Amino acid sequence: MRTVLKFGGSSVADLDRMKRIAEKLKRRRKEGEEIVVVVSAMGKTTNQLLSMAREASENPSKREVDMMLATGEQVSIALLTMILQEKGLQAVSLTGYQAGILTEGMHTKNKIRDIDPKNIEKYLSEGYIVVVAGFQGYNENGEITTLGRGGSDTTAVALAAKLHCHCEIYTDVDGIYGVDPRLYPKARHMDSITYEEMKEMAFLGAKVMEPRSVDIAQNYGVVIYVGSAHEDRRGTYIQEGERNVEERSITGLSVLENIMMVTISRLPEAGTHTADIFRKLAEEEIIVDMISQTPMPDGSVTLSFTASAEDRKLMESVLHDVVDQLSGAALTTTTEMLKVSVVGSGMRTQSGVAARIFTLFAENGITFKQVSTSEISISYTMEKAHKEKAVALIADAFSL
Ligand code: ADP
Ligand code: ASP
Ligand code: MG
Repeated sequence: MRTVLKFGGSSVADLDRMKRIAEKLKRRRKEGEEIVVVVSAMGKTTNQLLSMAREASENPSKREVDMMLATGEQVSIALLTMILQEKGLQAVSLTGYQAGILTEGMHTKNKIRDIDPKNIEKYLSEGYIVVVAGFQGYNENGEITTLGRGGSDTTAVALAAKLHCHCEIYTDVDGIYGVDPRLYPKARHMDSITYEEMKEMAFLGAKVMEPRSVDIAQNYGVVIYVGSAHEDRRGTYIQEGERNVEERSITGLSVLENIMMVTISRLPEAGTHTADIFRKLAEEEIIVDMISQTPMPDGSVTLSFTASAEDRKLMESVLHDVVDQLSGAALTTTTEMLKVSVVGSGMRTQSGVAARIFTLFAENGITFKQVSTSEISISYTMEKAHKEKAVALIADAFSL
């Protein structure tokens, strides 16, 4: 048997924790299992590296940011490998490049294009535990790249797909809950969740899994187990499955923080302005959603949409290029917003969820700015101040 195990930042935050992980790996290796381990940077290392980069430069070159961030994972793989060797095991650490992880796209937001597993296969066949740096790869120009925040999950799942095996994700919670248990301590633990629902919850903010990793798992049929790195409790399987045994309309709730709402008013209706705006945003790989365009009595239109507040500076510089050339048009951005979403494939067949939530919000003084829906989710954009109350109201009402 062969398995990819991934340990997140808090699970490898110090040497003691790494030693405990090494014990676990030793037991499994002794039973004959072939083991690939993917690790993240220790604790809050990635955040610290990022803030150092921002101190060095207001707008640091993304190539150099990748160069810097990739160091975090390299410390972890080297230390964990030393500890494994200290325990008498054969182990080797590999960077993304050495593990054959070829990527493409913009620096800091790369996607995995392909993996050449020959180096990993060679070490596995010789009995080594192979410790791979998560979150990093190399592009066709031989540059070091990273996969976006939380990208070690993606590394792990993509490796499991390539190596045709299961993937175990170990983190600081004992599995997937209906709601982030740090936000709603009464949340319901799930024994399993479908790819479809997990993917939607992750895209809508449940950071326990990086969204693209779930997408890859679904496409390649990789079964994921999510569990606690240091506690012996039952975790959650993410896999294809029968839905709605319990006839639930909603399976989970996610919160996406740090959202901004962008409004461009008095945009001339005629012409390609709207198309130009979205083309330019796409060129910068800025992801937007909840787009609405409202015609005004004066013949102009008001365009609004939401995006991550992290992209604020870039977004404003792109939009000012367009807006400043149009007399009368004005740009406003509102930050301190978030998006609360409910997710459930049961919504395909059950109606009335939106109505129930509208009523809950109305009766409890919660206002929202925008609503959008997909086949299996409904999202509400609102001010940050409503977060706790909105989450508790929905979670209580739907027993999440
Ligand atoms: P790691 O460093 O191991 O990758 P993350 O911090 O990225 O860990 O993800 C784990 C966190 O995800 C948990 O601490 C938890 O607060 C959060 N989380 C958000 N939504 C959920 C959910 N629905 N179920 C479980 N955990 C969740
Ligand atoms: N260290 C990276 C991050 O903090 C990747 C990861 O943890 O998955 O985003
Ligand atoms: Mg993570």
